Amino acid sequence: MRLVLVGPPGAGKGTQAQYIASNLSIPKISTGDIFRANVSGGTELGKLAKTYMDRGDLVPDQVTIAMVRDRLSEDDAQDGFLLDGFPRNVPQAEILKKMLADWGQGLDLVLELVVDDDEVVRRLAGRRTCSQCGRIWHVEFDDKQDDRCDACDGTLFQRDDDKEETVRHRLEVYQEQTAPLISYYADEGTLVGVDATGPVEEVTQRAMDAIRPFLG
Ligand SMILES: [Zn+2]
Repeated sequence: MRLVLVGPPGAGKGTQAQYIASNLSIPKISTGDIFRANVSGGTELGKLAKTYMDRGDLVPDQVTIAMVRDRLSEDDAQDGFLLDGFPRNVPQAEILKKMLADWGQGLDLVLELVVDDDEVVRRLAGRRTCSQCGRIWHVEFDDKQDDRCDACDGTLFQRDDDKEETVRHRLEVYQEQTAPLISYYADEGTLVGVDATGPVEEVTQRAMDAIRPFLG
C-alpha cells in the first residue's frame, strides 16, 4: 500500500500517520524525519539543506525532492509507505507520480483527514502550556478551569501558536496551499476523505475501513 496522508493543522495527522503505518506494516515517511536524518547523518543533501536552514531560508523543492527520492529507494519502502508532509503542492505531486512511475509503481490512495475549522479551533485554542514543565492541558478536554499545572503547580499560558486568530490564519494558509492538491488527487481518483473528529482510536478505525478496499 502506497499512500499519502493529508490534513489540516490540529487534525492529529502525526498520530494517525503512526497508527495507520503500523497497522499496515509499512514505514511512515515524514519530511520532518527525512530532514532530521539527513542533517544528523551528515549526507550531502543534509549538508546542503543545512546551509539554507542556517541562513533562515526555505530548503528548495529540489533538495526536498531528492531526499524523498533517496528515502523511497530504501529497502523498507519497496512494498509500500505512508507519506506525511509530501507532496505539499501540485508540482511536487506530479514529480512524485513520475518518480513512482519510473519504478513501475503508483500511489494507491490519498487519505484526507477532514475536520471543520471550528473543531480545529476548539482543539488548539483550548490548549494551555505549563510555563514550568511544558506540559499541555486543555480547558475543555482536561476540564482545566484554573491557570495552575496539576503536575508541578507552574503557571499555565496560551502559546501564540494556539491563539484563535493564529489558528484561523494557519487554517487559511493550509486551505490555500492544499485545496489545489486535494482537487488534483480527486481528479486522479485516488482521494478518500475520512472524518477525523472524535477519539483517536475511532479515527484510526475509520481510516482503516477506508483503506481496506484498496488493499491488493
Ligand atoms: Zn507543569
